[in-house]
Amino acid sequence: MSPRDCDVIVVGAGNAAFCAALAAQEKGARVVMLERAPKEESGGNSRFTAGAIRFAYRGIDDLKAVMPDLSSDEIANTDFGAYTTDQFFDDMFRVTRYRTDPGLCECLVNESFESIQWMRKKGIRFVPIYGRQAFKIDGRFKFWGGLTVEAWGGGPGLVDQQTNIAKRNGVVIRYGARVVSLVYDGHSVQGVRVKEGTGITTLRAPAVVLACGGFESNAEWRTRYLGPGWELAKVRGTRFNTGDGLQIALEIGASPYGNWSGCHAVGWDYNAPEFGDLTVGDGFQKHSYPWGIMVNALGQRFVDEGADFRNYTYAKYGRRILEQPDQFAWQIFDNKVRGLLRDEYRIKRVTKVSADTVEELADKLEGVDREGFLREVRAYNAAVRKDIPFNANVKDGRRTEGLLVPKSNWANTIDEPPFEAYQVGCGITFSFGGLRIQPESAQVLNTDLDPIPGLFAAGELVGGIFYFNYPGGTGLMSGTVFGRHAGVSAARAALIPNAQAV
Ligand SMILES: Cc1cc2nc3c(=O)[nH]c(=O)nc-3n(C[C@H](O)[C@H](O)[C@H](O)COP(=O)(O)OP(=O)(O)OC[C@H]3O[C@@H](n4cnc5c(N)ncnc54)[C@H](O)[C@@H]3O)c2cc1C
Repeated sequence: MSPRDCDVIVVGAGNAAFCAALAAQEKGARVVMLERAPKEESGGNSRFTAGAIRFAYRGIDDLKAVMPDLSSDEIANTDFGAYTTDQFFDDMFRVTRYRTDPGLCECLVNESFESIQWMRKKGIRFVPIYGRQAFKIDGRFKFWGGLTVEAWGGGPGLVDQQTNIAKRNGVVIRYGARVVSLVYDGHSVQGVRVKEGTGITTLRAPAVVLACGGFESNAEWRTRYLGPGWELAKVRGTRFNTGDGLQIALEIGASPYGNWSGCHAVGWDYNAPEFGDLTVGDGFQKHSYPWGIMVNALGQRFVDEGADFRNYTYAKYGRRILEQPDQFAWQIFDNKVRGLLRDEYRIKRVTKVSADTVEELADKLEGVDREGFLREVRAYNAAVRKDIPFNANVKDGRRTEGLLVPKSNWANTIDEPPFEAYQVGCGITFSFGGLRIQPESAQVLNTDLDPIPGLFAAGELVGGIFYFNYPGGTGLMSGTVFGRHAGVSAARAALIPNAQAV
């Protein structure tokens, strides 16, 4: 047996990495996690999330298993509905235009409930997402988009809980430890080289799990793979996901897989900083566009803001904003819907103008053709089917008629002062392209499509799950499902003689 410093090395310290580490530890492996970021910035994009996590559930009894703290008042005052595996499959197929890898998608959906229960058993607390995913009708909350639960304390709460649980279970976490290459003998992976401070050392283990994110924070790779203009996008989350894990795996012959020219990207405050800011978290996003309209520099609408619930359009509309002249848009709302705007519209660092007339608003929309905008609002208002009632909880069919760019639901006229407008650019969340894994073992495959002994992967850097678009809350679940697979397989490879021969 070759010398080892531990049984399993996990690269990264986001949700996928913690799930892998805890699953490996549960099987008896001695685990070391290597996190590139310093402790105060650790946790990758997972720390930036709202902690919203998608899973299939049959009704309140399943939710009670995940949230035993639910009070009888909450249960009485809430319609949690159900979100079946069939609905989850339908959402995945629809938003990825049937390109999601069937084997990966099957694990993701079918194991989603069992995986969140496993997280709960590990000690992670969850609560209902009343603020963003439910509206009150006749005194009762109703959830609408298949996304019902978030980690207690959001992303920071999730990562802090996972860190404490991992440490309590003897998992070693080294911060400021950037993995720069794999130790590979041409057949199997036997460890990593890691840069800490100014020195590079070798850490040996028979199994390595890569859970170190995509390439969204690398402007050069964004331009190379996503296309021209993507260097101009802002990064919503961590600055540390620069594609290292992908690069070191591709260097030893791993197979690239999935939608390498695709990514998750949203409307994001136009003046947000280059990378995410943990004091603001996801507050720069502006996701209430279904209640209003979005216009570009010509004053023209360019997407169907009401094509679907926000959960099924927000991740693809960032790209559409990036494609507009000068890469920005203004979201416009009138008084009728101001009360529906999400909490992120009320943060301090927001690019916002208000006015008492549409004409005055037009003067204030920086970079926008005034006459073009006024023409667009007149045409839009005239096209709204006012005879169909507005209902934020369902796809209400209150639509426009006869416009080149339709609005299919929630079409409200823009005519009641005061008016508000918010300027957004494109904020990239994560890249979709990644490594090819065998779904059940999460073992990385080489370009001959054979498993690479000793190498496993989970989270953002797995390719083949998301194409074109993404159903909100699925990133964390993907990291959990495949993190567990990777951890269990890595422990098996490390602890069972000859298991590597798989
Ligand atoms: C603002 C925002 C909000 C979001 N909201 C949600 C949400 O509510 N629900 C949801 O499901 N998804 C959400 N997402 C997406 C979600 O964050 C990701 O899908 C998920 O967190 C990815 O987890 P991961 O563990 O694969 O990667 P990450 O959490 O990004 O972890 C990657 C880790 O690898 C480390 N790393 C990178 N390179 C190296 C290296 N060379 N050596 C060692 N370590 C390295 C990083 O420092 C980091 O710790 C959101 C994303 C953002 C940015």
